[in-house]
Amino acid sequence: MSEQYGVDPQFLDALLERETARFERTHQRSKKLHERTEGSMPRGVPLHWMANWPTPHPVYLSGAEGAYLTDVDGKSYVDFCLGDTGAMFGHANPLVAEAVSRQVHAGTTTMLPTEDAAAVGEELSRRFGLPYWQLATSATDANRFAIRIARIATGRDKVLVFNGKYHGSVDETQVALQDGRMVPQPGVAPNAVDTDRTTRLVEFNDVDALEQALSERDVACVLAEPAMTNVGVVPAEPGYHDALREITRRTGTLLIIDETHTISTGPGGYTRAHGLQPDMFVLGKSIAGGIPAAVYGMTAEVAETFERYTAKDGHRISHAGFGGTLAGNALTLAALRTTLEEVMTEEAYARMSALAERFERGVTEVIGKHGLPWHSTRLGARVEYLFSARAPRDGGEAKRFRVPRLEAAIHLHLLNRGVLLTPFHNMALMCPATTESDVDRHTAAFAECVAELVS
Ligand code: PMP
Repeated sequence: MSEQYGVDPQFLDALLERETARFERTHQRSKKLHERTEGSMPRGVPLHWMANWPTPHPVYLSGAEGAYLTDVDGKSYVDFCLGDTGAMFGHANPLVAEAVSRQVHAGTTTMLPTEDAAAVGEELSRRFGLPYWQLATSATDANRFAIRIARIATGRDKVLVFNGKYHGSVDETQVALQDGRMVPQPGVAPNAVDTDRTTRLVEFNDVDALEQALSERDVACVLAEPAMTNVGVVPAEPGYHDALREITRRTGTLLIIDETHTISTGPGGYTRAHGLQPDMFVLGKSIAGGIPAAVYGMTAEVAETFERYTAKDGHRISHAGFGGTLAGNALTLAALRTTLEEVMTEEAYARMSALAERFERGVTEVIGKHGLPWHSTRLGARVEYLFSARAPRDGGEAKRFRVPRLEAAIHLHLLNRGVLLTPFHNMALMCPATTESDVDRHTAAFAECVAELVS
């Protein structure tokens, strides 16, 4: 028995071996499709990490609807991954599908706005509290653009991020702490970016480290998730957000809050639920109901800089460094408007959060029954379990609490029983179509898996 995480490593090995064999037996068509795709795509997938699930090869899907997936081998799954938040409002949401198909027949992309732009801007302002908004195609892009504005506004180069963060493939953020020193993110080529020049990295919840890192007043912005969600969940300690805001204001550093995952907290995100006051706000993935889109909001002051910087210069061609040809197009706007006005409702969130509570209760009961040193955390509609008795205080601690083989074993076991968690951590997300019996299905499969691992 491992004292550290409460599971017998021998049982873990046996379970992994057996579940891998079971997966292989029952996913022959996926295997064949993977072999075929390997002929034209590196690693046999359109995006490399699709091949990183804990399965011997990816599951190839034939459909997705509501909270469910079906694969080419005829299996179906309750989907708690929901495209790692991209499908947080359900697959093939009928309202989004209708808006999108209407717009597909009325033109998708033109280089000009539609009436939906006004409605989307107004609703974003009302919902999230910042008065001005721009669109991007992904949260990664939105973060890059927010950092660019912060640099223009402050005349400073550096961005401060937190150890264990993920904000997309933004070059400046590809760093990690090792023995207290910032190093290039293991596994990510530095891409010729000198992160010593562009980046400061500290642990989340460490007010002193933050104070020190911003004291030279050479940091343009802090880019932060309000609770970290990409190394397990690291909640903000009481008072941390007040300190973060006070120190950033005092040192003339802009504060960018990235709500791409924490939008699970409620219809106005963590920001509205906790009264945060960011200078900029980023949200991608789910915001257009699964159509690629991201938004970034800004204060009137930041918007003034943005307007000045991007202003028309006679009839010259201007490349300001923001955008993407397809950003903010008619299709995106139609999907965004419908998602905001009709899908991301108070009622939908109330339902999703209640289901997440039920999910968390189930997990906690199983953990308690076996006296395991594990815990779970909930952010509205999102639940995460981790192999430590309490929530990690920062990204460094969260990384130490992870047990990748155990994680893989649980994921495989659940997947073989028709339950899908988000890979690379133990995250489950509820969508408006998730039901109580879906949640109970997870609880039963999780209970079965844990019983095997400890007995
Ligand atoms: N911000 C956060 C907090 C994220 O978790 C992610 C992706 N997991 C991103 C930004 C990047 O999103 P995308 O890959 O859609 O650009």
